[in-house]
Amino acid sequence: MLDYTKQQDWPNGFGELQSPIDIKTENLKAVKTQMHYHVLDDYKLHQEVDDGTTIRLRGTGTAEIFGRTFDFVQVHFHSPSEHVVDGKRYPLEIHLVHQNVIGQLCVVALMISEGETRNPKFQQIIDNYEAGVTESIELSIGDWAPWYPVGIHYLGSLTTPPLTEGVEWLVITNPEFTLNAEQVGWFREHFGKDNRDIQPLNGRALQLYR
Ligand SMILES: [Zn+2]
Repeated sequence: MLDYTKQQDWPNGFGELQSPIDIKTENLKAVKTQMHYHVLDDYKLHQEVDDGTTIRLRGTGTAEIFGRTFDFVQVHFHSPSEHVVDGKRYPLEIHLVHQNVIGQLCVVALMISEGETRNPKFQQIIDNYEAGVTESIELSIGDWAPWYPVGIHYLGSLTTPPLTEGVEWLVITNPEFTLNAEQVGWFREHFGKDNRDIQPLNGRALQLYR
């Protein structure tokens, strides 16, 4: 099992384009166009897996990301968030992992705040976990993606070993839902802290969409 208290011991044959990063938007000029991320075929979740540090669910569905078609392949969660945006670390970060036909990876990260409303789909995931349900669950989450995404696009890496680079990131700060304190608390209680440390930016360009 991955040990987040011993990150310095993770296999580290990587370069200078690592994730997550500390994002400061105040010095960035917003790109004039909209962030191109649209769910085409609704995202459906299937098998739920407890990998010791997070819940992972296999996914199906497709999205168009900057003019290219990607398959949605899985979703998992980190708490607290891995990315930091303008000094804010969010209580939870959702990673929607996508891959295209030539194997390129694109992770859409939804930065989730705590609010009054509990999210019914995240609750379903919790309830299935509690009940030990691992077979196909057919939960549709296409509406987790905001209609008009706001955030950052940059090139980084996987945040767990093998920490592979060349991963495209869309860090989205305006998801249209929150989790309530009970849901965030449940995740933290079951999985502890599962976020990777901030990595050096090394002069990388960040594109800001708002
Ligand atoms: Zn992740």
